[in-house]
Amino acid sequence: MKTFPMFLQMAGRHVVIVGGGEQAAQKARLILKTEARLVLVAPELDAELGALVAMGRAEQVPTLSVGVFRGAALVFVATGCVALDHVAHAFAKEAGAIVNVVDRPALCDATTPSILDRDPVVVAISTEGTAPVLARQIRSRMEVLLEPALGELAALAGRLRAEVNQRLPQRERRFFWEWVFNGPPRQALARGAGREAARLVKDRLATGEACSVQGRIALVGAGPGAADLLTLRALRLLQEADVIFYDRLVDPGVLELARRDAERVFVGKEIGASSWPQDRINAVIVAAARQGRQVVRLKSGDPGIFGRVGEELETARAAGIPVEIVPGVTAASAAAASLGRGLTERGATDRLMLATAACKPGDPDPDWATMLQPGTTLAVYMGVRKAPSMIRTLRAASIPMGLEAEIISNASTPREQIIRCTLGQVPEALAEQSIENPAIILIRWSKPAGARTRSEIAA
Ligand code: SAH
Repeated sequence: MKTFPMFLQMAGRHVVIVGGGEQAAQKARLILKTEARLVLVAPELDAELGALVAMGRAEQVPTLSVGVFRGAALVFVATGCVALDHVAHAFAKEAGAIVNVVDRPALCDATTPSILDRDPVVVAISTEGTAPVLARQIRSRMEVLLEPALGELAALAGRLRAEVNQRLPQRERRFFWEWVFNGPPRQALARGAGREAARLVKDRLATGEACSVQGRIALVGAGPGAADLLTLRALRLLQEADVIFYDRLVDPGVLELARRDAERVFVGKEIGASSWPQDRINAVIVAAARQGRQVVRLKSGDPGIFGRVGEELETARAAGIPVEIVPGVTAASAAAASLGRGLTERGATDRLMLATAACKPGDPDPDWATMLQPGTTLAVYMGVRKAPSMIRTLRAASIPMGLEAEIISNASTPREQIIRCTLGQVPEALAEQSIENPAIILIRWSKPAGARTRSEIAA
């Protein structure tokens, strides 16, 4: 760190801004958020700054001197004139002030960070001047995590702190605050119900009810791989989770977005490693939630699509633990996006079939020929190994072998691979090219133009 972040006390202090134009006004707007007095050093002020002086919110000093900088908490110089900037900088330094000269990094003791303001919650981001665009990007990500009304809740917490300390034994205080910022009050706030949040907090404090945080389970869709295909809800839950149970297909980039101190438990099946049978997974997630922990069960794609959510939902419900599903972007959607088209096309493929080749042991093979009719896009999950037998079945049912097929592996990730071929060539293509898992097979049987209705063709 070449620079060190600190939050300066501003009440009862003053900030000097040299300059009377837009750049000076930008700094003035920032300082106006604080309680510092504002001193504007310029012979002339623009309308906005002039109004601040007229309202008594700032004081104008027309001429530069060393004295004007004495005792200032901070000095901003933004005259727009190189020579004048240097003079103001020299005077301010002589007065011992901390100076920021706009757009002249060599003359800056301090720089203004990218600020996310949820007063009294304030996040300041710096890249030490290396990448201001990155700082802004980080800020937009944080914007999503910190709902606009969060400051209200933090301010309320500040007002109630003394009472909480008086009423609750120390051991319970942490639970109480965790409940406030993680539990129903925060959720009410996220829905935009600020008053309800405040009422919940006050009621709980008044009744003195113990605040052990209730454990819960979220079955969260991690999407197909790319971390930025996560939903905002998934991201929030990852940041709130105490423990995350994740599958083999969950991309490491997604896990990186979790809270740093969250426990991560791999429950996937990997060749050579001890595998996790489903009932063991059910048992551990419920046990973790029973300890009052926030549990995220992270599954690739959409958890509700070939994700075996049923048993996990049932076990959680039977144990009386609140459980929810957070949908995600499924592999078929990501694969179509990589191909640069939709999964359906009006009038040509009006039906979308999602099917898996990996059924329960003992079950008969899927009835591929019934699924694949004119007007269908068929997305076959977990189909690579069974592709040859699937094609044999389709050939035997006289399905045209010239239909378009695509095999997409690792869709949405840097390892993505696409093979385009005909239906009949799928086994060959898979045998010839080393296809990495996970891969999905998309087969398209467009309706012949003649089969379209008159209005479809017109549209
Ligand atoms: N719930 C997941 C599917 C789980 S089954 C979802 O909604 O996507 C696992 C199968 O999904 C894999 O065998 C593969 O067929 C497919 N799959 C998952 N991620 C994929 C990806 N990034 N690219 C291609 N196929 C993928």
